[in-house]
Amino acid sequence: MDRYLVFGHPVRHSKSPFIHTLFARQTQQELEYGLAEPAIDEFATALRAFFAQGGKGCNVTVPFKEQAFALVDRLSPRAKRAGAVNTIKLTDDGVLLGDNTDGAGLVADLKAHGVTLTGGRILLLGAGGAARGALAPLLAEHPAELVIANRTHAKAEQLAAEFHDLGGVTAQRYELLEGVFDLIINSTSASLQGELPPLAPALIHADIAIYDMMYGASDTPFIGWARQQGARQIMDGLGMLVEQAAEAFTVWRGIRPGTKQVLRELKRNLGTL
Ligand code: NDP
Repeated sequence: MDRYLVFGHPVRHSKSPFIHTLFARQTQQELEYGLAEPAIDEFATALRAFFAQGGKGCNVTVPFKEQAFALVDRLSPRAKRAGAVNTIKLTDDGVLLGDNTDGAGLVADLKAHGVTLTGGRILLLGAGGAARGALAPLLAEHPAELVIANRTHAKAEQLAAEFHDLGGVTAQRYELLEGVFDLIINSTSASLQGELPPLAPALIHADIAIYDMMYGASDTPFIGWARQQGARQIMDGLGMLVEQAAEAFTVWRGIRPGTKQVLRELKRNLGTL
């Protein structure tokens, strides 16, 4: 049986085994998918041991994505851009290929919700790993403008400069944001601390689309806040999680699983359906 797993710390609550088991059943692929939680300084050893013992591929989540980037033999162009690896495949010629499917997952989920990216004005909150992974796939959709705002403004500026060659990306301080945005994506981890990014309520209007990369059994603080301000199209990151997994599954198995039913089952599992 081909073996896959997700490396993370902590990883016990990961939904990836649930998702990939459903993908495998749906596509009639024989594989097993488990969890690995090595100590922070033992990731490299655990990764090598997994592949030495016949592992075919793995996902990598917080806090190992940057380490994985440095450890693989070869990087996909999108992983190189993201500066992080969330998917590793052992190729037939024994090469560890590092990929990053997070941004593609975000874009696929936005499209599944009918959000038009091309020609739109997008505000991306946060300049951490998730923002970095999202930038190239978002810019590939040719928005009219993509503005990055981050608590530490210098990081937003640095990110905008790094992706400048892809066109249409700038950095702006939260308090200076203005104009009408079509889509706001929250890639900050503020919700984890029960906090809100410092966004002016005037930026929210009835026709805006709101996306929070975080997800949970109930509304994230950001989603609750946006709803209160009158936003109607609101999405959390659960769909992104399923879509990035589908992209990883495709990299490993060469077959693209359907995501709609799996997302429904995941929501049922989380008690949100
Ligand atoms: P990082 O730690 O790399 O970055 C965190 C970002 O959030 C930084 O820009 C930081 O700003 C900002 N931030 C943190 N706290 C606050 C606050 N109180 N107010 C304003 N800004 C704040 O995290 P990641 O980028 O890796 O992850 C971010 C989020 O995305 C997480 O919640 C994660 O769960 C989610 N995610 C979801 C995925 C999915 O599949 N749905 C995939 C990947 C990530 P500063 O620079 O000033 O510190």
